[in-house]
Amino acid sequence: MGKITGFLEFEREKVHKEPVEQRLTHWREFEERTPDEVLKRQGARCMDCGIPFCHKGCPLGNIIPDWNDLVYRGRWREAIARLHATNNFPEFTGRICPAPCEEACVLNINNDPVTIKNIEKNIIDHAWGEGWVTPLIPPRHTGKQVAVVGSGPAGMACAQQLARAGHAVTLFERADRIGGLLRYGIPDFKMEKWLIDRRMEQMAAEGVTFRTSVNAGVDVTGEQLQREFDAIVLSCGATKPRDLPVPGRELEGIHFAMNFLPQQNKVNAGDRVDGQLLATGKRVVILGGGDTGSDCLGTSNRQGAISVHQFELLPEPPKDRPPLVWPNWPMILRSSSSHEEGVIRDFSINTKAFVGDAQGRVRALRGVCARCARSGSTGRPTTAGP
Ligand SMILES: Cc1cc2nc3c(=O)[nH]c(=O)nc-3n(C[C@H](O)[C@H](O)[C@H](O)COP(=O)(O)OP(=O)(O)OC[C@H]3O[C@@H](n4cnc5c(N)ncnc54)[C@H](O)[C@@H]3O)c2cc1C
Ligand code: SF4
Repeated sequence: MGKITGFLEFEREKVHKEPVEQRLTHWREFEERTPDEVLKRQGARCMDCGIPFCHKGCPLGNIIPDWNDLVYRGRWREAIARLHATNNFPEFTGRICPAPCEEACVLNINNDPVTIKNIEKNIIDHAWGEGWVTPLIPPRHTGKQVAVVGSGPAGMACAQQLARAGHAVTLFERADRIGGLLRYGIPDFKMEKWLIDRRMEQMAAEGVTFRTSVNAGVDVTGEQLQREFDAIVLSCGATKPRDLPVPGRELEGIHFAMNFLPQQNKVNAGDRVDGQLLATGKRVVILGGGDTGSDCLGTSNRQGAISVHQFELLPEPPKDRPPLVWPNWPMILRSSSSHEEGVIRDFSINTKAFVGDAQGRVRALRGVCARCARSGSTGRPTTAGP
C-alpha cells in the first residue's frame, strides 16, 4: 500500500481538458497530461483494501492496487510490467474504457474513487516515452500457423499473444486498415489512430503478418483457411446495426452511426471520401443516448451542426448511485465530454415515424413520451408505451 493515510489526505483530482471552444476546432485528443506529482498523489489514495473490488470490476482483471502503489513510489518501469501482465494495450483502455473499476473502488462507497483509468493511461504513455515498450520476440517458434480473422482490439490482442507464444500469426481484416472499431468507429478526439499504428509496428516485429482488405469467407474461403492454417480464431465483432423499422425510415438523411462515424475517421486519416455524410449546417437528431450517440454528437459539433438533439428511449436515470448497487455498474446519468460540448438531451422519447418533404428528405420526427415497463422477474426494461 502506498501511503497509509493517502485516502484521508488527498482528494480525487480531475483530468484537465482543453476548453470546449478550442477543442471543437480540431479532431485531436484534448485531455491534458497529468503531472507526475498529481498521479503520485492519486496513486497514494489507493487503500490496497483486503479485497480489491476494482480488480474484479475490471474486465481484464488488471492488478490495479499493485500499479497504484508503484506509481506512488515512482517505480514506473515496474508499474508498466504489472499493467502489461494483464492488458496488451493499456493506451487504448486508458483512453476509452468506461472504467467499471472506478465504480467498484472501495473508496467509492463513501468518497470519490481513485483515478484508476488516468493512472493506467499515464503508466503506458510514460513507458512508451521512456522507450520501455519493445517487441517481445519469442525465444522459439512452434512451427504452427494461426489465422486471426478480425483486427479489432480482441483480434489484435489475440494475435499478439499467439505470436509471443511462438506461433506464426496472420491477422486478416476486411477493412483497409487494422483496428476494428478502434480505427473506424471511435472518433479521433477520443483516441488518436497513431496509437494503433505504433502497436502494429511492435506486433509486426513480434512476427504478426497483417492482411487488410481481405473479407474472410468471401476473398478467402473457410476451406482455404483450414488448409493453410493449423488453427483459426474468429474475432469479427458485431457489425450488424440495430435498425428502427418505423414509417419513413427510408427517407434521405437518416443514417446509421456506423455509416457516419467511419467516414470522418477516414478523412482524418487523409483519405478522400466522396459525398461524405456531414452534419455541417444541419439540425441533427441522434436516436440513442449511449456512447455511440455521444460519438455522433462530438463529431456533429466538430463538423459544425446548427443544433444537436439526443433522444433516449429510457427515462432519465438518477444522478446519484442508488444504494446497494456498489460494487456493480450503476445505471446513473452519465455525461460524456461530448455532452459538455453542446447538446439538447431528452429522455423517454419513442420515435414512431419520420416525416419527409416533397423531395423525400427527412424533415421531422414523430415521437411520443414513453412510459417504461419493467420485467417482473429481471427488473429490466421491456417495452415502452405512450
Ligand atoms: C461508435 C462506437 C464507439 C465505441 N466507443 C467505445 C468506448 O468509448 N469504450 C469502449 O470500451 N467501447 C466502445 N465501443 C465498443 C468497442 O468498440 C467494441 O466493444 C470493441 O471494438 C469490440 O472489439 P472486437 O475486436 O470484438 O470487434 P471490432 O472492433 O468490431 O472488430 C472486428 C473486426 O473484424 C472485422 N471483420 C468482421 N468480419 C470479417 C471477415 N469476415 N473477414 C475479415 N475481417 C472481418 C471487422 O471489419 C472489424 O474490423 C464503441 C463502439 C462503437 C460502435
Ligand atoms: S479503466 Fe478499464 S481496463 Fe483500465 S483498470 Fe479500469 S476497468 Fe480495467
